[in-house]
Amino acid sequence: MKKMKQNIFENTQVAFQLKSNFELRRAYWLFRLIQNRSLVNVGKRLAHWALKMRLPVEGLIRATVFNQFCSGISAVASQPIVSRLGQAQIVSVLAYSVEGTASEAGFEDSLEKTLATMAAQKGNPNHPYSVFKPTAIGAFSLFEKVAQQEELTPEEKGAWDRVCQRFDRLCQQAVDWQMQLFVDAEESWIQPAIDALVEKAMKRHNSQQPWIITTVQMYRHDRLDYLKYLIEKAHQQNFYLGVKLVRGAYIEKENERAQQLGYPSPMCADKAATDANFDAGVALLVAHLQRVKLFMGSHNEDSILKLLALMQAKKLPNNHPHIWFGQLYGMSDHLSFNLADRGYNVAKYVPFGPIRDVFPYLIRRAEENTSVAGQSLRELELISKELNRRAATRDVAA
Ligand SMILES: Cc1cc2nc3c(=O)[nH]c(=O)nc-3n(C[C@H](O)[C@H](O)[C@H](O)COP(=O)(O)OP(=O)(O)OC[C@H]3O[C@@H](n4cnc5c(N)ncnc54)[C@H](O)[C@@H]3O)c2cc1C
Repeated sequence: MKKMKQNIFENTQVAFQLKSNFELRRAYWLFRLIQNRSLVNVGKRLAHWALKMRLPVEGLIRATVFNQFCSGISAVASQPIVSRLGQAQIVSVLAYSVEGTASEAGFEDSLEKTLATMAAQKGNPNHPYSVFKPTAIGAFSLFEKVAQQEELTPEEKGAWDRVCQRFDRLCQQAVDWQMQLFVDAEESWIQPAIDALVEKAMKRHNSQQPWIITTVQMYRHDRLDYLKYLIEKAHQQNFYLGVKLVRGAYIEKENERAQQLGYPSPMCADKAATDANFDAGVALLVAHLQRVKLFMGSHNEDSILKLLALMQAKKLPNNHPHIWFGQLYGMSDHLSFNLADRGYNVAKYVPFGPIRDVFPYLIRRAEENTSVAGQSLRELELISKELNRRAATRDVAA
């Protein structure tokens, strides 16, 4: 296992093939800075304040975190990065990463923006996927009420009908434009409402191909059973099951709520249990590849290596159409580029949007790299290795 890891992911020349020396040095300093939690906290507050006061800080944000984690201010402005990724055989999932206002007008606007992003991608082989977050098209509180099976007022019923219509419109559009559509997963206390919508959409649209792809978070201890249920349902009802398998992004919120309201946490007991649950989910899905498409959304090297070993053991081709790997733009290039270089199917989630509006997304990325143990250190180690390699071999920057 160790040997495979070294062979595949330690190749920094492949990993950073698109990065100039300047970009690598910038990434190095950025990952060094965001390792410092207090600095991230102070920087976050200062930048929020400066943006609110309309001070001219957008240039600074662009030159640092924005250029590291985002592709541009619009889908069109993102195309140079999309093309460069495409040259390395990596497809881009453009994600309009702006949190709209929680109002009917805001939800309609999000719907239109998502449709416009899909329109900008349709027919382009660099963009086989689209994505959206359900609470961008409907109120969180409404998802919660539906998830908890609470009775809705007539007004809420009307609002929920509109959410369902927006959801259906996105799914139908994806199928009409021959794109696969990821539905992101969110907090466990609204997820039943999302699951019901995606299951219905998969049954309706996935008879020939897994156009609609659900997201399953394996930090939840109940999700292995849910995967079994989905596989069973896909077999019985004759549809293709598309699963984006992730660990899950809301652990602090989940634990806090469970503690506050006094119910057992839906989270796995610890990180090792989440890892085991995730890997068990992968093995289960791979056992049903004729009916199932697996998109592994993860930066975890060990889980990826386990899947590669499983593919090898089952003699599956590297580019099996039902196995994909996904990472976020600006992170873990050593995984994405080395996988693509070996012929595996790889996608990058590529966020874009006006600098001011994507700022909350950028803060989350900075905080995640501060909190995910070892993540920034790993990035730093590999970037230094590549800079040293280039200096030693006088390799000219990409
Ligand atoms: C392409 C892509 C799409 C994504 N889409 C979604 C989405 O739709 N919804 C969503 O929620 N997330 C999504 N994520 C984020 C994902 O859920 C993880 O938060 C993130 O990828 C980090 O997990 P990891 O597998 O990369 O690896 P790691 O860094 O090894 O794992 C970190 C994760 O482990 C879990 N964990 C950490 N500590 C503990 C603990 N003490 N006990 C139990 N579990 C713990 C948490 O889930 C944490 O995020 C996506 C990620 C990618 C790359």
